[in-house]
Order: sequence, then C-alpha cells, then structure tokens
Amino acid sequence: MIAKRYEPFWKTTALEQMSPTEWESICDGCGKCCLQKLQDDDTEEVHYTNLSCHQLNIATCQCKVYETRQAKVASCITLTPNQIDDFQWLPDTCSYRVLHETKDLPNWHPLVVGSDKEMLRQGLTVRHYAVNEHNVEEEEWETHIIKWVHGMPEPYDLT
Ligand code: SF4
Ligand code: SF4
Repeated sequence: MIAKRYEPFWKTTALEQMSPTEWESICDGCGKCCLQKLQDDDTEEVHYTNLSCHQLNIATCQCKVYETRQAKVASCITLTPNQIDDFQWLPDTCSYRVLHETKDLPNWHPLVVGSDKEMLRQGLTVRHYAVNEHNVEEEEWETHIIKWVHGMPEPYDLT
C-alpha cells in the first residue's frame, strides 16, 4: 500500500479559503510592503523607496503597533483575501503575490524552510537597507527609489 503524500496547506487551500492563522502565516515578514511608495503622476507607476514606515522595527521587520496599525498610520493597508486581484502593487517577492501567481511558495519561505534563515541569507528582508522615513526630508524621497534585486522566485518543487 502506498502512503498518501502529505501536502502542506498552502498547496491544497486557496488563499480565499485559508483560516486567519493560515493567512497570517503566508506573510514571510520581509517588511517590503512597509516601505514608502511614490506614484508617477504621468504614468501612475508605483515606485518603492527604501524608506520604511516609522512604525516598522527595521531590525526585526516587525510592526511596532501591529494590533492598532490602521489607527496609528492611516495609509497602512491590511491585506485580505478580498483584495487578491489587486496584489500587483506588492513587491514581486511578496509571498501572497507569489502564492497567488504560482500556486506555491518560494523555496526560501519560512514555512518551507522552518525558519527565516534562508530569507536572511538571501537578503530578502528590508532590514539591511531600510531607512526610517522620518530621517529623510520628503523632498529627498525621490532619491530613495529602489528596484528589487530579486525577480519572481521559482516555485518550490517538493517532488
Ligand atoms: S511584502 Fe508581503 S510577505 Fe512581505 S511583509 Fe508585506 S505582506 Fe508580508
Ligand atoms: S503601521 Fe506597521 S504594518 Fe502598517 S505600514 Fe507601518 S510598519 Fe507596516
């Protein structure tokens, strides 16, 4: 008799069907969505900067006010399954976006690896380059626009 192969929940459960705990665990904690963005007036293209929301603990990539974040920062967006079709604004390494687009998580994801060590090894969090937005005058923000070094990660092949 052949044993049934275990499939992790992110391979068998659509994002829209995940429990709140499963949904939260898909966030890899990179901190990239907490970076300030600038939109081109002409093209409407969104550009990420390396300037983090002042409520981001850059060393840990954790929000300092997570439970009350939207009351503290009006522009903070809480990701929900209802917005999946709008995920294009997220960085292309964002695990919600990757899972939505490839139906799998990247091979460096903490749920796959068991820790964030592979993310840290590959420099996939903002902790090594983010600068608190309050440390830079707004007129200077354009000079902080960045391009992500990593493109879309390959899906992880468990076979
Ligand atoms: S960019 Fe995506 S994976 Fe990274 S912290 Fe934001 S929601 Fe989580
Ligand atoms: S309030 Fe917290 S979750 Fe929201 S953008 Fe700022 S650091 Fe990120």
